[in-house]
Amino acid sequence: MQPDFSLLRELSEALGPSGFEDAVRSIIKKKLEKLGFKSAEDGLGNLYVRLGEGRPLTLIAAHMDEVGFIVKYITSNGFLRVASLGGVNPGIMPGTSVAILGEKGVVKGVFGTIPPHLLKRGNGQREVRVEDLYVDIGASSREEVEASGIKLGTPLTFDTDFWDLGEAVSGKAFDDRLGCFALLEALRTAEPPSRGSVIIAFTVQEEVGTRGASVLAHRFNPDYGISVEGTIASDVPGVSEENWVTALGRGPAVRVFDATIVASRQLVDYVLSVAESAGIPVQIQLSPHSGTDAGRFVLLGARPGNISIPARYIHSPRALSIKSDIEYAVKIIRKIIEKPPP
Ligand SMILES: [Zn+2]
Repeated sequence: MQPDFSLLRELSEALGPSGFEDAVRSIIKKKLEKLGFKSAEDGLGNLYVRLGEGRPLTLIAAHMDEVGFIVKYITSNGFLRVASLGGVNPGIMPGTSVAILGEKGVVKGVFGTIPPHLLKRGNGQREVRVEDLYVDIGASSREEVEASGIKLGTPLTFDTDFWDLGEAVSGKAFDDRLGCFALLEALRTAEPPSRGSVIIAFTVQEEVGTRGASVLAHRFNPDYGISVEGTIASDVPGVSEENWVTALGRGPAVRVFDATIVASRQLVDYVLSVAESAGIPVQIQLSPHSGTDAGRFVLLGARPGNISIPARYIHSPRALSIKSDIEYAVKIIRKIIEKPPP
C-alpha cells in the first residue's frame, strides 16, 4: 500500500518546536483515533499506543518536536532577540521566514542580522551567532509586538511549505516528522504483534535533551528501545563519500553506533534479517556526532537500536528526502511491529 504523503505534508507543516508540540500531537492523536487505536498521554506530552501484552516489550519511538527558537527579548523598536531550542546553524538563518506561535495566532517574520561586513571577529573570520540574529515582524515598537500576542517565551520555528517533487519530498522538520509519519503509516497496515508487546511512542523535547524519551524509559522499562529518525544525509557536493553519514535512495539506515548508543548487535542483526527476508534495501549508519531517544532507553537497560530515514539539510529551514526510503522504512517498521525481536 502506498504511503499517504498528504499526512506527511500535514505533519511537516505543523509548528512544533521543542516543548511546544501541541499541534503535532493533535494531528497524531486524531490519526490514531481514526485508525482505531486508543492512545495515552503523560504529563510531559508523550503520546503512545500499546499493542499486545507481556514481555518482551519493544518500545519504538519517534519525536514530535523540531528545532526552533524562543523569544528572549523584545527591543524598544520592535525586533525580537531569540535563544535556540535545539541545534541550529545561525549562519544560515538570515533571510529565513519564521512562524511565531503568538497567543493570538501565528505571526510571520524574517530573520535578520547585522550586515556580514560588520561581523568581523577575532581572527578576521565572519561568523553569525544566535546572539547576532533578530526577527523582524514589521513592527516598529515593543508595544506593537506585544499587541500581536508575542511576549518573552513565545516559541517560533521555520515557515516552510511542503513540496511533493515526484520521487522526492521536501519540507521542514523532517527530523523527526518522517519518523512520526513512518510509525503512523506502519500502524495503519500492521497486524498485532505475534509475541510480547510493542509500544509505539511519539515523544517530546528530543532536540533539547531527549527528555520525553527519558520519562518513557522509566515508565515502561523496555527490553528493546528503538528510535525512528529522520537522519543526516550528507551525500552532497563537497563531502567525500567516506564522510557520508547516510545517502538518499539506499533505503532506511540501520544504526550501529552514535554518540549515545552502541546498538545491540542482536537487535541490529534482527533488523537486518527482517530487511533481507522482505527484500528491503538498508544502509548501515555510524554517527559519532549525534544521538537519539535510544540513548535514553539504553540507560534503563534496554537493548538499543535505531532505524532512520535519510534526509538532507536537517535542522535547517528545508530538508529533502526520497519517497522510496520512506516507503521502505514504513515496511520494515511494520514487519518489526508484527514480529518484534525475541
Ligand atoms: Zn531527531
